[in-house]
Amino acid sequence: MIRIDPHKSANVAPEYWRLLKIFMQGKRGTSKLKAYAQKHAGLKSRFMYVDKGLVDSSTIALGNPDDIIKDFKSHYKFRTTKPGFVKRMEGYYSEFFGTTIGKLDPNHPYKDLKISTWLAKELGVKTCPYCNREYTFSRSLRNGREVHPEFDHFYPKSKYPYLALSLFNLVPSCHTCNHLKMEHEINTNPHYYSFEDKGMSFKLEDINTGGVYDSEKDHWVFDPDNVEIKIKNSNENVSRLGIEEIYNLHKDIVADIITKAQAYNESFYQSLVDSYRGLGKTPEEIYRLIWGTYMNPQDYGLRPLSKFTKDVLDELGIKR
Ligand SMILES: [Zn+2]
Repeated sequence: MIRIDPHKSANVAPEYWRLLKIFMQGKRGTSKLKAYAQKHAGLKSRFMYVDKGLVDSSTIALGNPDDIIKDFKSHYKFRTTKPGFVKRMEGYYSEFFGTTIGKLDPNHPYKDLKISTWLAKELGVKTCPYCNREYTFSRSLRNGREVHPEFDHFYPKSKYPYLALSLFNLVPSCHTCNHLKMEHEINTNPHYYSFEDKGMSFKLEDINTGGVYDSEKDHWVFDPDNVEIKIKNSNENVSRLGIEEIYNLHKDIVADIITKAQAYNESFYQSLVDSYRGLGKTPEEIYRLIWGTYMNPQDYGLRPLSKFTKDVLDELGIKR
């Protein structure tokens, strides 16, 4: 739904790769893998690829997961879901993400943070990219504990274990979305697309008439039982993560928007805008102060329900 800032992921990528390399080089696993590959000739290419990918090149760590999958499928005709391989890659993922950075680089400015907390911080994801409903801040607590969003593997690691540590396969998300998605595959990776990019928006549907409200907002009577929230151009993300169902529990927001639109007649709305402008606020800040969310797609992720609020205002044709 909300795209992860591509500048932030590009900025963090080299450092992610550097730390992953230190982690992998510190593992004897690579030489063990080579020995295992030599013993089991049929599996050689797989382990050599992973070995090479993780240790000698950044392709697997920093590539586009779609390209990596194509590459794998065209070059390697083996089953990548062999339990031992899945377990090994899952183990590398959990261990790396739970590692305190100082163990890899004692002079690192974030040496006290775990990889997971550091990465989430660097990606600057403040609300869940899948649902834009829950805050996903990362922070360190005074008692030394850390809080960070869960990382969903966009392509599940049980089916694509070689993507377990791929940066652009990792989506910091809320527990609900991560739990609902689990091992399923969906089709819109927030590292590359927003719902905007896919022409998706919220719409209100009157269950009786199938239409929305007429232009005379003073006549609107909001009856939550007769209105359904739907998503235009819905896709796998929406159905798998139950986005329509969960947003139908946010009808109170629609009711509040309608009440505000009715209470703020033209002159009152203008006087609000003027007085905020008098305080030196920009049009974007004025929007946020009045509607409580952000209006520009690149800022939607800063506060929950921003995309929803903006779409409902557009849907109702409310001046802002
Ligand atoms: Zn979510």
